[in-house]
Amino acid sequence: MLIVMKPQATEGDVRAVCAKIESMGFRAHPMPGAQRTAIGITGNPGPLEPAEFETMAGVAEAIPVSKPYKLVSREVKSEDSIIALKTGPGKADVSIGGRELAIIAGPCAIESREQAFAAAARVRQAGARLFRCGAFKPRTSPYSFQGLGEEGLKILAEVRREFGLAIVTETVDPENCDLVAEYADVLQIGARNMQNFSLLKHAGRLKKPVLLKRGMSATLEEFLMAAEYILSEGNYDVILCERGVRTFADHTRNTLDLSVIPAVKRLSHLPIIVDPSHGTGKRDKVTPLARAAVAVGADGLIVEVHPNPERALSDGYQSLYPEQFEELMEQVTAIAGVIGRTTARSALATAGSQLQESGPHCKDRRFSS
Ligand code: PEP
Ligand code: MN
Repeated sequence: MLIVMKPQATEGDVRAVCAKIESMGFRAHPMPGAQRTAIGITGNPGPLEPAEFETMAGVAEAIPVSKPYKLVSREVKSEDSIIALKTGPGKADVSIGGRELAIIAGPCAIESREQAFAAAARVRQAGARLFRCGAFKPRTSPYSFQGLGEEGLKILAEVRREFGLAIVTETVDPENCDLVAEYADVLQIGARNMQNFSLLKHAGRLKKPVLLKRGMSATLEEFLMAAEYILSEGNYDVILCERGVRTFADHTRNTLDLSVIPAVKRLSHLPIIVDPSHGTGKRDKVTPLARAAVAVGADGLIVEVHPNPERALSDGYQSLYPEQFEELMEQVTAIAGVIGRTTARSALATAGSQLQESGPHCKDRRFSS
């Protein structure tokens, strides 16, 4: 059930409704909106009586939620959620889900300080505001590189300090979740863990935004239910990520399901970004799919970029060279402009095009890949 408060309801009215919900043994989730606050109720085994709430001060209506997922649903919150990262005093504000696309880029895994610094310098210069890099890697083979662990996290903290990039890094189990959360600005939960319910609940109890990747065989409903686990524990800062699903197609590693973007947008207020690297598994397909993802309405991208992909310890064949990432940024910035969005590169591009217009040559912006 969802309790919709009147626009003029006071904070005291909201508190009283929450207290009543808690006294019934359920959980109250107040969600302030631009016009009014809505309060979601979870933990109730069956339907509740609307009249119990509708007679309370400040309550406009009590409406049953028809979907199996509740807190992630637009029924509960109609406005888009914008997730603001608190990257520390004096750091640039980064938010996900607003007009500016969230561009997350970096290597699949952290291999060394030199590798991370080289990647960070290039992706930042190209216009990424967030740095991706795994210190704990969920690998298909137990013999593959598993990541540098805490040593890697410490290097990522240096990357944040040195380059002002927000850090997105993966937690693979509830045991390392707290440790990763100490270093990360955004906790990544990977495709293989989308239904690791104890990990989802654990992340739900932390105060860190979570990037939740879609499982490789997950339906849209399963995806949203996985997000619901996190919100139901009190963490509303969830960013969804489409990263491709398994199909019979064998020309790519996965099939990137871009149609899920408008489908999610219809059902949920949560931001959703796209991972064209794992979504295709092939370097030459990353930029075309990144362009399409932005065109279809994704709130951002997460892209693997390595300073030396041939030497990468994981996912080298799908990692972009830094100069390819630069080109990707230029192209997605152009597309973002067409649909009323921006990237951190837009300001640079505007300044650059003014210079070019006054100069003898105009840069060729045709999409070649
Ligand atoms: C990754 O981002 O490096 C990763 C392992 O992704 P996924 O969980 O989507 O496979
Ligand atoms: Mn990877």
